[in-house]
Formats: sequence, structure tokens, C-alpha cells
Amino acid sequence: MSGGDRQWPEGREKAFATHLIHFGAEIDASTGASSVPIYQASTFHHDTIDKQMAYDYARSGNPTREALETQIALLEGGTRGFAFASGMAAISSAFMLLSAGDHVICTEDVYGGTYRLLTTILNRMNIETTFVDMTDLDAVTAARKPNTKAVFLETPSNPTLKITDIAAVASWAKQHGLLTMLDNTFMTPYYQRPIELGVDIVLHSATKFLGGHSDVIAGLAVVADESLGNRLKQIQNGMGNILGVQDSWLLMRGIKTLKARMDIHEANARKLAAWLVSRSDIERVYYPGLPDHAGREIHERQARGYGAVVSFDVGSEERAKRLLDRVSIPLVAVSLGGVESILSYPAMMSHASMPKSVRHERGIGDGLVRYSVGLEDIDDLLTDLERALKS
Ligand SMILES: *Cc1c(COP(=O)(O)O)cnc(C)c1O
Repeated sequence: MSGGDRQWPEGREKAFATHLIHFGAEIDASTGASSVPIYQASTFHHDTIDKQMAYDYARSGNPTREALETQIALLEGGTRGFAFASGMAAISSAFMLLSAGDHVICTEDVYGGTYRLLTTILNRMNIETTFVDMTDLDAVTAARKPNTKAVFLETPSNPTLKITDIAAVASWAKQHGLLTMLDNTFMTPYYQRPIELGVDIVLHSATKFLGGHSDVIAGLAVVADESLGNRLKQIQNGMGNILGVQDSWLLMRGIKTLKARMDIHEANARKLAAWLVSRSDIERVYYPGLPDHAGREIHERQARGYGAVVSFDVGSEERAKRLLDRVSIPLVAVSLGGVESILSYPAMMSHASMPKSVRHERGIGDGLVRYSVGLEDIDDLLTDLERALKS
């Protein structure tokens, strides 16, 4: 389309909030439509057989999925983005960059699905993993072996929100030629941009805050450099675990409101955390925004916000179960990052497969619950919790 003078002053970078909505493909080039069309097509017609086409088969490339991939690459500040069928599809594809005989150093309180992938699937492919406390840089460096090829980070971690120093681990890894991957699901690129801190691949369960409405399962990956991009493209095309076009469109729609949602999620989460701290019947509260949270200083150096996941210990399994039974606003479910509050119980949900002794060692006690704070009125959420906690 031709027409008016829609120029942007050269040399001036647009802000994140603008990029969320104006990411390049937000206006359909052929019709001017206000959203990316859903190209519900599996293949593309060859006008003449000799001409190279932009798209030939939709596993390899589809304009709707590509628009989302462009959007997330821009938001994370990487060179290329990839959309996958789930967060685990994105994470497992990134691990396909490794080969048999390679060794991985992984944070010990990694997402349960990633733990399962490493310990029950990739181990069979002769890819071995050492799990370390990544808040301790000495533990990370001590884990390196001659065949170490990659380091996998997740910060803040789940559910006790431990903080890893991203730049410190990434620069050490770079010195030794190791690939760094980081699961950025809890923070989203609005709060934390790992590529700027030296990380090679950023991974997301877009099912959570990016999608934001608990209505789509999706995964995203963004790479820092072009050659990694080419390798991951080959894997995405070869494994075929792409995100469908309907879900790609839904995800783009969700991402447009990311900043607006995160601002309210976080304001609510801060109030909830402070309220919990003030109560004598709560044993412990985990939230990176609390003054005494271990690693808060590091977190503030590498992130612009604290997110909206608050974990707290009510003292016993009995009390936790009563709370889950009595709350009337949050979903009681696994998952997080939706417009609705979601309360989960790690001991019987996300961390049920972890031996009790290991679970307790990691601070995931029988009284620990995780609250993903939604966009409801915060006073209603507190009133609800107050009632549910009263014995
Ligand atoms: C949910 C989640 C995943 C897995 O994502 P799916 O979309 O469920 O496959 C990975 N990492 C973190 C931190 C998560 O919360």
C-alpha cells in the first residue's frame, strides 16, 4: 500500500509498550486489515516452478506464525523467534542442538517438565545433566566437565523464586564456549531481557503470562545470533512441533496487552505479598519484591519488575488443603499467568513426582502454596484469602 507519510524519526528506538502493538506485521500488507490474517493453509501455490517462493509448505513457514515469531524476537531483542506447540516443545527443541555424549549444567529448581525431559528422555540419548544450585556460582563452575556444552537457567525459579545472576553465569559460560539457555516464563521480556545479559537462547511457556488468558498452550524461543537461528530453524522444521495458526493468532492478540496486564498483575502481587508478610499465621513468604528476599539485589540489577507469582507457607499440609478448599476467587489449578488468579499446591501438583526428602530440602514444604496473582480487584482477593485462612 502507498499513501501518507508514516515515518518514524531515524535513530530513535521505540519503547517496549509501542513494540508490543506495532511489531511490523500488525497491519495486513495486502488489505490494510487491523490484525494479521489467519492463513489457514497447509501449502502454497507455485505460480511458476522456477521461481523461489516466500512460503512453500506451512510446517516450514506460515505468514501468521511468522508474524508471531517476528513479534517475540523484537520483544526479546534477539535476531530470530520460533513458535512451538508448547513451552516443552520449545525447550526440548532447544536441547536438540546438543548431541549424544554432551553434558548439561541445569539449575536444580528447574520447571518439572524440563527436569523430566532431562532425566527420563535426554538421558536415554546419552545427554547427561548435573543439577546445581545456580544461586551459587562456585557450584556452577565446579560442575563443568570436559564434555559440558550447555547451561540451562531459570530465574526467578519455581516455586521459591530463587534468583540466579544471569550475566555472571552467561559470561562464565561464554569463556568456556558453552551455550546458555534461559527459561524466561515468569518474567516475560517486559521485565527481563536475557539476551541483553549475554544469554544465547531465551525460552518461554507462552501458555502463561505471554498468552495471559489461560486459553492457549504455546511455546516460544528467541536466539541471539543468526547461526543459532539457522540451526534452530532446521530443528523446528525437522521435528515439526510448530504452533498452529489459530493459536499463533491468539498469542499475538494476548501479547499486545502484556504491559497493561503485567503492571496490574504486579501491583496486585506486591500488595498480596506485603499483606501475607504482615500476618502471624503465615510462616514464610517468597516474592522477589520483598526487602529480605535472597537475591533481591541481583534481581533488581537484571530485571525491571518482580512479576506476579507469590509463594507462601501456611505451616502444614492440613492448612494448605483447607485453604485450597475454601478460596472462592482463584482457580485451584496448575499453571499461572492468566487474567484470573491461580492457586496451586506444588507438593501435590507441579512437584508431586519429587521425592519428599528432596522436596523439603529445596524448601518446598507441605504447607507451601503458589499464588499467581490475577487482575481481579486486590481487596476482593485479600478478603477471599482472609476468610479461607481463618480457622
Ligand atoms: C509451564 C511452564 C513450562 C512448560 O510450558 P508448557 O507450555 O506447559 O509446555 C516451562 N517452564 C515454565 C517456567 C513453566 O511455568
